Amino acid sequence: MLSKLAVNGGTPVRTRPLPSSLPGASAIGEEEKQAVLRVLESAQLFRFGRPYDQSEVGLLEREFAEKVGTPYALAVNSGTSALITGLVACGIGPGAEVILPGYTFVSSAAAILSARAIPIIAEVDESLTLDPQDLERKITPRTKAVMPVHMRGTPCRMEEILEIARRYGLKVIEDVAQADGGCYRGRRLGSLGDIGCFSLQYYKIITSGEGGMVTTHHQEYYHRAVMYHDSALAFWRPEMGADPIPGVNFRMSEIAGALARVQLRKLDDLIARMRRAKQQIKEQIEVHKDLQFREEPDPEGDTAICLIFFLPSVEKAQEFATALSAEGIPAGTIYNQGIPDRHIYSHWTYVLRKTPVTSEGCPWTCGWHPGDVRYSEDMCPRTLDLLGRAVHLNISPWLTPEDCEDIATAVNKVAQALL
Ligand SMILES: *Cc1c(COP(=O)(O)O)cnc(C)c1O
Repeated sequence: MLSKLAVNGGTPVRTRPLPSSLPGASAIGEEEKQAVLRVLESAQLFRFGRPYDQSEVGLLEREFAEKVGTPYALAVNSGTSALITGLVACGIGPGAEVILPGYTFVSSAAAILSARAIPIIAEVDESLTLDPQDLERKITPRTKAVMPVHMRGTPCRMEEILEIARRYGLKVIEDVAQADGGCYRGRRLGSLGDIGCFSLQYYKIITSGEGGMVTTHHQEYYHRAVMYHDSALAFWRPEMGADPIPGVNFRMSEIAGALARVQLRKLDDLIARMRRAKQQIKEQIEVHKDLQFREEPDPEGDTAICLIFFLPSVEKAQEFATALSAEGIPAGTIYNQGIPDRHIYSHWTYVLRKTPVTSEGCPWTCGWHPGDVRYSEDMCPRTLDLLGRAVHLNISPWLTPEDCEDIATAVNKVAQALL
């Protein structure tokens, strides 16, 4: 029997709120407090000036590299800093085009601009990550790198992307900001390309409030990253190279380092919890031809931070998300013209308008590039269509089997009524 939808005045499936969907932030407890207090009691707030392995940040780097499976990891102060450092480390600069997906946080594109290179926007496919076919179509003689983004916790189609990058000689800079701890075919994300860039910002899977990490297998890129992230370090670390490069200051503080070390130890357990919950919910959602789950290039490597499914039309998806929220299960569509979500390229205003930081117009109209790159709000129609038809639900690590059942029950109830 069909029960009346809550949005039409029926009884909602659930009235109690669901647990927090900020995995790392909601796991902050006694261990984090002790770690921060330890730093305060030592009054050593700066990582340098003592042996490498006696600072919190130095130890975090070692532990993070071990987790990801790269010989090198460098701590920085944000995910955006990690991307800029990673681009500079592998030699991306003026005149270079860097291809990235049209669905990622605007800071991925801003990082490319900060490295004085030009972002080229490509479509996503049913995985909501970079479409390898469109990647190949967008390659020009000036393309120097590709930035696959493991968006909403799910690994990209790395096999295809790495193969194309090899064929065209492109550097691969993975944006792992939303997928810390995820895997692709048994390897941790951030260890597959030339450089991996992570964020430890408050909303990410694990957090130190603000923070980021750069990982790599290449010693040369590591040395360049170290020099770039600290403008004076090259003079103290002659082993970084005979010819120091100038840099900025993206250093991480000891308090953030201590916090991140504790969170890193919790990472795999948080992901295991979210995977269990997501699996139960997916199993309990009834098969329906008009409800298609997001494709997962490697389901076992998914961090399971969210559940996304596509409906046949934008109108259906909006109606579905509204009805589901009324049942007590917060949900939304991803693309909605009324909401200027900066995770979608059509809302990257300063990119689409090619607004330069200074009046010279770099990097779009600088002598190193012919200046023929064009953007428009509808340049990636498939991306907008998929995001408009996508219904998105967060998965919390703290969902009980009963919570998961409520979620699936509500999805089934709304699907029966609307599809
Ligand atoms: C959050 C995020 C970033 C930037 O990280 P910050 O730590 O906020 O600078 C980059 N890329 C993606 C995909 C993100 O979600």
